[in-house]
Amino acid sequence: MKVVVNLDLCQGHARCEDLCPEVFSTDAVEGKCVIENAEVPAEFEEKVRLAVRNCPEGALRVTKS
Ligand code: SF4
Repeated sequence: MKVVVNLDLCQGHARCEDLCPEVFSTDAVEGKCVIENAEVPAEFEEKVRLAVRNCPEGALRVTKS
């Protein structure tokens, strides 16, 4: 599973980082989402799905492999 972010939609709430810091971080300058681990390790898939559902801007999307 992969996760991608649409930076045009991301408003930098950092909710994704709060929910799964193993995969998401926040850009220090713009405050937007940075994906550290686009190929999501199996053990973090559930947390990533939770982050996707909780992104207020709908900026995150998962894809198969
Ligand atoms: S939760 Fe959504 S809008 Fe907020 S930083 Fe993450 S991707 Fe961006």
